[in-house]
Parts: sequence; C-alpha cells; structure tokens
Amino acid sequence: MTELASAPDRVDDGTLRRITHWIDGGPVAGTSGRVGRVFNPATGEQTAEVDFASAEEVDRAVASAKAAFDSWRTVSLSKRAELMFRIRELFHGHREDFAKLLTAEHGKVFSDALGEVARGLEVIEFACGIPTLIKGGFSEQASTGIDVYSIRQPLGVVAGITPFNFPAMVPMWMWAPALACGNCFVLKPSEKDPSASLLAAELLKEAGVPHGVFSVIQGDRVAVERLLEHPDVAAISFVGSTPIARSIYETGTKNGKRVQALGGAKNHMVVLPDADIDMAADAAVSAGYGSAGERCMAVSVVVAVGEIADPLVAAIQERLPKITVGDGMHPDSEMGPLVTREHRDKVASYLDSGPEQGAKLLADGRETAPDGDGFFLGVSLLDHVTPEMDAYQHEIFGPVLSIVRVDTYDEALKLVNDNQYGNGTAIFTRDGGVARQFQFDVNVGMVGINVPIPVPVAFYSFGGWKDSLFGDRHIYGPEGIEFYTRGKVVTSRWPDPATSRVNLGFPQTR
Ligand code: NAD
Repeated sequence: MTELASAPDRVDDGTLRRITHWIDGGPVAGTSGRVGRVFNPATGEQTAEVDFASAEEVDRAVASAKAAFDSWRTVSLSKRAELMFRIRELFHGHREDFAKLLTAEHGKVFSDALGEVARGLEVIEFACGIPTLIKGGFSEQASTGIDVYSIRQPLGVVAGITPFNFPAMVPMWMWAPALACGNCFVLKPSEKDPSASLLAAELLKEAGVPHGVFSVIQGDRVAVERLLEHPDVAAISFVGSTPIARSIYETGTKNGKRVQALGGAKNHMVVLPDADIDMAADAAVSAGYGSAGERCMAVSVVVAVGEIADPLVAAIQERLPKITVGDGMHPDSEMGPLVTREHRDKVASYLDSGPEQGAKLLADGRETAPDGDGFFLGVSLLDHVTPEMDAYQHEIFGPVLSIVRVDTYDEALKLVNDNQYGNGTAIFTRDGGVARQFQFDVNVGMVGINVPIPVPVAFYSFGGWKDSLFGDRHIYGPEGIEFYTRGKVVTSRWPDPATSRVNLGFPQTR
C-alpha cells in the first residue's frame, strides 16, 4: 500500500506532529498562527498540533475548488463511477490505517473504528452507482412534436463540517455523493481528531481525483464562519451538536446556501413487558456503551414499560462488570476513553446531579475507570430517572445509561414524542402489531424494531426529526444525491420547417 505522509508513526520522531490543511492537491501548512492541540485520549498525552485556518486560507481552498469545478463537472459519468470504484478499493486497503488514526485521536476501540470505516465504505459503494442514481426522466411527445426531460446537475463548490465522533465515516457520508455528483468538496473536520481527513485526501489524490476537487481546511469557528458567508460556496452539510446545527442552518440559508444540518440526539429504547429480556439487555448495553456512548445513535434512555423494569435493570446491571474498559488499541478493550478531559468531566457530572435530583446511581463509572491520565469513565447506570432531571434533559454523549420507568405504552410513546430530539429510537417487543403502531406513531426519523441502533444502510438516507435535523434533506442515500444536485427541466422541439410560425400566445399543451 501507499506510503502515507499522515501515518503518525512515520512522521512523529519525537517532535510534535503538525496536522496541516490540504489545498490544491497537497498539504499546506497553516499561516494563521493559531493551532489546536490533539490528544491521545487513552494516555492523556498531546500527540499533535493542528493548524487553524484563517479566512484567507479558507478563501484559498474555495478558489482552488472553484477553479477545478468547470473541468470536474465535464468528467463523464462512467469515468466518475470508475474513479469511485478505485477510491473504494484504496480506502478498503487502508481501513486499518484509518482505524489506527481514529483510535489514536478519538479513543474508540480498534474493532469499532474498523466498523466506522466499513459503514463509510458502504456510502462510497453506493456512490459507485452514480450513472444510475443521477438519471433524469424523459417524456416523449409531451405535446405535439415536443419532448420534455429532466436532468440533475452539480451545485459547484460544497462544504462539509463534521463532528469528532465519526472522523472518517461522517465526511464519507458527504464527500462521496458530492464528488460523484460532480461537485468540488471542501471539508472542515473536527479539530479534535483531524488526521483521518488528511489520509482521505492523500488516498483521493492517489485514486486520481484532480487537484482542487477535494480540500481540507482545519480549524474552528473562524473557518466555519468564512465557509458560511463565502459567495462561492453553494451548499453546506453539517453534522454536530444541535445549537451549532441550528446556527449553521440559519446563517447558511440567510446567505442563500442550501443547508442540511444534523444535530444532537437523545435516543430512547422502549422495552415492552413482553420483550425478550436478554435480547433487550444485550442491546441496551451494546447501544448505550459502545464507543463510550459517543454516537449520535447511541441509546441514552431505556424506557422500561410496566413489570419488565426490575428484571431488565437487573439483567443490564449483571452485564456491566464484564465490560473491559481500556486503551482502544488493546485487544481486550471493549470500551475506550472519552474524547477530551473536559468532555469526560462533563459526562461524569451527571453522576452527581442525577442522584441529587432523585435518580438511583446503580453503577458509578468514576470508580471503575482505569488508572492513569487517560480520559476514561467506566460504564454508568442511573435508574429512576424522570424527565425533569438534567440527566434526561441533556444529551450526555457518554457512557451513562438512564432508565425511565413508565406504566404504559402510551406513556412511553408520549415521552419519546415530547422529547426535543428525534434522531433514533427503538422498540423491543414480541408483538408485531404494537411495533407497527409505534413505527406509525413515533415522531423520530430512524426507528428500530428489536434493533437498537437503526442506522440506515447506504441506499436509504440518514436523518432525524425535530431538533436533530435542520433542513429538508437527509444525508447520503437518495436524498444525498438530491441534496448535491439541482434539477433542470428541458422542453425541446425540433421543428418541422413547414409548420413553423410565430405564435404570441402562452404555450399550451393541447
Ligand atoms: P460540535 O457541534 O461541537 O462540532 C461540530 C463541528 O462544528 C466541528 O467541526 C466544530 O469544529 C464545529 N464548531 C464547533 N463550534 C462551532 C461554532 N461555535 N461555530 C462554528 N462551528 C463550530 O459537535 P461535536 O462535539 O464535534 O460532535 C458531537 C455532537 O454531534 C453530538 O451532539 C452528536 O449528537 C452530534 N452528532 C450528530 C449526528 C447526526 O447524524 N445527527 C452524527 C454525529 C454526531
């Protein structure tokens, strides 16, 4: 496989590694004088410094993308599909390199990091079908001698702003369809784990993506604000927390851009009295603590309905001591650290506020966290949580699972529907009729039936409702293709010279 400049073990010779931008087909060191610190969350050590872009550096990337667009959009669909296949092979070949970077900067365990890359690859595979996906319609003889057809064309320069929790996959959700549709893409990754973005840039270059078609701008809100106001940026895809998503949507649309902004979540798993307790407990533990709860589709609240509550809580509790928490590169580790010390401390604060407000702390992750300076918190469980408590009100985004007990299905449904967020939800039951009713009634964008993390496969689209999504198009899948293209309808006539004549009336079809 390719020698990669971004692989840390090859450039980290004791001095702090520098994570740069990627503009015009190559790495570009930042000149703003502003940098961010990148840590290995398992050790607490700083491992790199990431450049923070100035507005001028953003302008440079956008100018390069704009210059590349005219030629990129003329590349035939079959050539673009061929390129996507090559990209898929390269990314697949480097999946372990990606996973190592993810574990080193995000902290998630290596097997989970490989899973992240695999789910991203599915979106690239979907994008390989671009010749079919971008097809328009054709109506022959819509009127006498007149044909009408629709085509979809790329938008131009589009930008993606991504969160820390999926540093490889979420950018793939965006750039794979965007590029396949003929756009040029500028990525602003999370400053907390930025290395995967450079590995992606190197591989895209190696696959043959022309200079300027894919760029990376590292940084913070300065870079984001410039992207939001830049006149040459046609569309913004954002994934992150709700307050930022809302503000990105408002500012981006005010500036005339197409915006899809995916926000935070508080996902409820409803467990009905007839559910298989072991299946539900396994699912709650996997979906609650996988990736240390730092998934937007993580189960954060288990809603136990009726008499199942006591045995379900007992089954969950019984599983917790068996979870091995540790450095994500250690083969025994099942759950890694949190992404930063500050985030870990914030998550841990709910273990104080929960009991203060009346919840029962059944597992305290502060007591079981591995020793050392890593940003660890062990698995934590709060029972008897009620909707007014902070642990219920806030998106905790860590390994703290809350149990809310209710008496009826209707109460459970109301709880889910009244929640500010509507990203994912799941119901566990053996009753198909109730599951179908839940699917019909629930105001949430992605629903699992005995499936705790219902992330749609790549040929559907991903997106929540309510404060989990601002904008009207979900991400990737068919809606991703729509988002990154705009429609044009052509009405065409090849006149018979014998019947040509001037007609000052409004065109009629009959
Ligand atoms: P975040 O909102 O803090 O950051 C997301 C991106 O926005 C980053 O690139 C960051 O640099 C940038 N940003 C941060 N503050 C900004 C500001 N004031 N102005 C402009 N840009 C700013 O989110 P995060 O902490 O990186 O990620 C975790 C959040 O993302 C959680 O809320 C999680 O639910 C959400 N998330 C949602 C989905 C989804 O599909 N709905 C997927 C993954 C993560």
